[in-house]
Amino acid sequence: DNPIQRKPAWIRVKAPTSRVYAETRDLMRGLNLRTVCEEAACPNIGECWSQKHATVMILGSVCTRACTFCNVATGRPDLLDPHEPERVAEAVGKLALKHVVITSVDRDDLPDGGADHFARTIRAIRLFAPGTTIEVLTPDFLRKEGAIEVVAAARPDVFNHNLETVPRLYGEVRPGARYFNSLRLLDQVKRHDPSIFTKSGIMVGLGEAKEEVLQVMDDLRAADVDFLTIGQYLQPTPKHHRVDRFVTPDEFASLQTHAYAKGFLMVSASPLTRSSYHAGDDFVRLRAA
Ligand code: SF4
Ligand code: SF4
Repeated sequence: DNPIQRKPAWIRVKAPTSRVYAETRDLMRGLNLRTVCEEAACPNIGECWSQKHATVMILGSVCTRACTFCNVATGRPDLLDPHEPERVAEAVGKLALKHVVITSVDRDDLPDGGADHFARTIRAIRLFAPGTTIEVLTPDFLRKEGAIEVVAAARPDVFNHNLETVPRLYGEVRPGARYFNSLRLLDQVKRHDPSIFTKSGIMVGLGEAKEEVLQVMDDLRAADVDFLTIGQYLQPTPKHHRVDRFVTPDEFASLQTHAYAKGFLMVSASPLTRSSYHAGDDFVRLRAA
């Protein structure tokens, strides 16, 4: 086991207490929906849910992969729920979201990796909540021929897929995934439909060097990726990958400057940045600009 290190002062977060937080939680529970906010023990849950920002996790609660940074349960996956897309759309409508992020566990067991379920969810939200912009944060669809195109054809506003870390650390952090496959996914989405914004993210503090992070940025720009998120990795339990170090706010600011200089349209780099942190605000601002 890896003992959990004490967090520096810049990582402390407030406990969730607000009324809107409780409403968001009750609505999700009432519709039997899961959120990555809870499943991944996200430190921003108090802030996000108090503003009705939640990231819905579809395709069940059990993942077929076992990334060493991730708090989601691994094992035999749940049966697919054919009515989940409509329930997600109902939640989006009831919460009156401007922007929604839909993510999922990895479903290597399904022939299409869950692509059709993603597409159905996008279409259901368009029907119930036509004013809401939709961001999908998908698995890598490794060896699932045609899956990326199925999701892209449903035309989400933002197609997000996280590289999570630098290629050298894939073996220990993201076993089962392939760095260049994930890059190719983002490239394919852009080629399929250039009007979809593409987005990716990494965690830092896992043992990567700054030069490696800059190389990831170059790789993403070569795939024409538009948005980038960079946040501090936090260890959820002693069973998970250890934190190599806590990256300082100044270092995050420097990474953000580098990323903008490389041509990303939108960059969020800070200790508590997560893939879906403030995704809506940033996107709405970008569209208004
Ligand atoms: Fe949920 Fe994303 Fe906010 Fe975390 S940052 S609480 S995962 S919406
Ligand atoms: Fe967690 Fe996603 Fe890895 Fe599954 S594929 S273990 S949900 S990060």
